[in-house]
Amino acid sequence: MDTLHIDGQVVLVTGAGSGIGHAIARACVAEGATVHLADVSDTVHDAAGKLAEESTGAGTVASHVCDVRDKDAVRVLLDDVVAASGRLDISFLNAGINGVPSLLQPGGAIDELSFEAWRGVMDVNLDGLFHSLQHSARVMKKQRSGSIVVTASTAGLRAEPRVSYPYVASKSAVVGLVRQASLELARFNVRINALAPGPVVTNIGGTGPRPAAAVAAWEDSVPMRRWGRPDDVAGLALLLASGASSWMTGGIHVVDGGASALTQIPS
Ligand code: NAD
Repeated sequence: MDTLHIDGQVVLVTGAGSGIGHAIARACVAEGATVHLADVSDTVHDAAGKLAEESTGAGTVASHVCDVRDKDAVRVLLDDVVAASGRLDISFLNAGINGVPSLLQPGGAIDELSFEAWRGVMDVNLDGLFHSLQHSARVMKKQRSGSIVVTASTAGLRAEPRVSYPYVASKSAVVGLVRQASLELARFNVRINALAPGPVVTNIGGTGPRPAAAVAAWEDSVPMRRWGRPDDVAGLALLLASGASSWMTGGIHVVDGGASALTQIPS
């Protein structure tokens, strides 16, 4: 059996400047991988610099500014990774946004939502994933090896009133894209799986203080009675990326403090 170790492997993480993507990148560096962090924000260079400083092992770090909505930029990103590191073993396709009112908030109802708000989320969460998946697959099919891990969401697996229409719709489509791609990529020795995190404390809801009532309501829906931390998700991400999951592909794997085990929110 292979182990979780991914030392020496070449890894790409999109949306790596913050939150879950950053925690995944940090875990990969700690394991001794060569990690390429990509993000739309140029703060990714500082984030990567800090990871390099913290690193005590053999892991190395590179950073790239890339907007996953831009298909040409994504093609260049993948070409740059291969030019710098010779190959791509693991691709964490994680970039995503929300930022649109939920069903429970003003402006979030289906007849109030603007098409621009809808498209804004779809552009990143679905079209951005399409570009990133297409170019990761291009490289890995040629190599006849690789592992792709996509960050979906529990909001892609069920209706969720505390989340926006385009977020639920985009993550539901992400689930279908991962399953469909697994059929094709298996023939090329390339695996693809998705993480489906529940509520995790990151910057996706903004960097300001979070309303206490909303925080508590989410906590009540999690049997473990706390929000997830990005590191809680990174462990599953590494498992799915590594040879320890060598016969797993096309799967959607929840990491949510037990929330999916519930059929109703406890009082
Ligand atoms: P985050 O905001 O902390 O991190 C997301 C990162 O993606 C940021 O660094 C941001 O700059 C980057 N990004 C945004 N748009 C981009 C683009 N067009 N191109 C490249 N990078 C871009 O949020 P997070 O919660 O860590 O989100 C990471 C992933 O996890 C997303 O796909 C999100 O949908 C998913 N997710 C989050 C939660 C949660 O509760 N936080 C739950 C389930 C799934």
